[in-house]
Amino acid sequence: MRSERNERDRGRRRASNVRGGGESESDKVASTRPRVSVSPTLPVLSSSSLHPLKRLGQNFLVDNRVVDRIVNALGPASDGTIIEIGPGKGALTERLIDHAGQVVAIEFDRNLAPLLIERFAARNNFKLVQGDALQTDFCGEILPAITARVVANLPYNISTAILQRLIDQRQCLTEMVLMLQREVVDRITAPAGSTERGYLTVLVEAYCESEKLFDVAPSAFKPVPKVWSSVVQVKLHSKIRVEVKDEDLLWRIVSAGFAQRRKTILNNLRHAQEPLQTKVKQHGGASIVLCVAGVDLQRRAETLELEEWARIARAME
Ligand code: SAM
Repeated sequence: MRSERNERDRGRRRASNVRGGGESESDKVASTRPRVSVSPTLPVLSSSSLHPLKRLGQNFLVDNRVVDRIVNALGPASDGTIIEIGPGKGALTERLIDHAGQVVAIEFDRNLAPLLIERFAARNNFKLVQGDALQTDFCGEILPAITARVVANLPYNISTAILQRLIDQRQCLTEMVLMLQREVVDRITAPAGSTERGYLTVLVEAYCESEKLFDVAPSAFKPVPKVWSSVVQVKLHSKIRVEVKDEDLLWRIVSAGFAQRRKTILNNLRHAQEPLQTKVKQHGGASIVLCVAGVDLQRRAETLELEEWARIARAME
């Protein structure tokens, strides 16, 4: 156990020839290098010496048929750039490198870096960013490419936050093929009226088109998770798909609308937090705002379509 930890620590120090991280001085120096390079003395960790970390959602894909289906759904082109979030031990990465023009892989776990370097650094279309995808400037990392597509078997505990971050950087991202917990995919693709609908559904609808592709059984992973997964294809639009002048206002309204799911939209807007509360009052109160927007006061957030949310925002612009 102890020697394994020592080996991991050594691997950590040597892995400083990987971009990103920002946790030590050596990382800062290393982060100026454009891509990974392999030192002949780099210790190689065998994948069996690494215990999957639950807190990083490490359920590694071990079913090659699922790998094929994900890569086929993405259809990497020889002149295209692909961002992979959380390459893990490289199950998807290898196939991506074979087909894509450039692969930029962002992995948080420093212990996996030596493994990925050993496996892929000889491939000149591979770049490893060792760091947190929640902090990553995707548009900066893909330069000189202007746009990229994203593929990821995402850690479930951060999938919503990552999705939001990807949508925020949609100016350089055109499409994503993501494996998520099945319930999250059902939420993203839920039509108006479905109880699964939430803030994330409206957010994805506003900036993307999404389609659920297929379900994946727990047995496709190691260690085996407790839940099923699904793969979803998301095409990003650079502009919001409804007419609103103030997008921040729209997202405050949607967030307030779903704050208490059992309450009506009227009640939720009445009890909205600041600064939305003041805005609602300035426009005559929640009932007037909803009447101007043509939205029935008794409706619940889950029944509203994107355009109706936009009408509420326009009623307060
Ligand atoms: N892609 C690999 C596969 O399919 O076998 C691994 C998928 S595993 C579900 C999730 C991966 O994301 C792990 O390698 C984990 O270390 C990495 N990860 C977790 N949190 C991350 C973060 N904030 N930024 C980047 N990678 C992260």
